[in-house]
Amino acid sequence: MKTISPSKIVCVGRNYAKHAAELGGEVPDEPLLFFKPPSSLIGDGDTIVMPAASKRVDFEGEIGVIMGKEARNLAASEVWDHIEALVPVNDITARDLQRIDDQWARAKGFDTFCSVGTPIPLGDVDRSTLGVITRVNGEVVQEGDAADMVFDIPTIIEYITAIMTLEPGDLVATGTPDGVAPLSDGDVVEIEVVGVGAVKNPVVQG
Ligand code: MG
Repeated sequence: MKTISPSKIVCVGRNYAKHAAELGGEVPDEPLLFFKPPSSLIGDGDTIVMPAASKRVDFEGEIGVIMGKEARNLAASEVWDHIEALVPVNDITARDLQRIDDQWARAKGFDTFCSVGTPIPLGDVDRSTLGVITRVNGEVVQEGDAADMVFDIPTIIEYITAIMTLEPGDLVATGTPDGVAPLSDGDVVEIEVVGVGAVKNPVVQG
């Protein structure tokens, strides 16, 4: 069952240099933003359905940020004060459709394509050791350190709030490290944010 009800989900693409490289891309000069629809949300234990329209559905383990206060035109120094909680996110992606489409509403937007765990209040998290680990069938496939982000969390949220108001409860997904790979029917995929918690989902072919 989903644990959050954001008005929007704002995501950052290519925010780790090694991940940008593995997809054959460069890191952008500014944060690269896209949306996932709230209708894509699922929670721990819910099933990820790989749509028949795609031949390659990838996991992307990410650190998620839940906003606590309305935020518009924040300075980076004000950002942490506006964050309520951190959460593990799986930004599931139809990679083949992403390559075809200039915009990613389809590749990122299928139902069940945004798995989110239980938000943990910021005050209960050690921000100095933030990182994300992805496991498929118990085997570690991604290990990323927040220190390796191209744009850190305050910079990302300063950038977003110069464009749009972030409402309390909105989710920001901060990008995935290298190691993305396709899921298969019957897999179990788990995203852990170190010191925050994990979200684990079975995968089926739709
Ligand atoms: Mg992503």
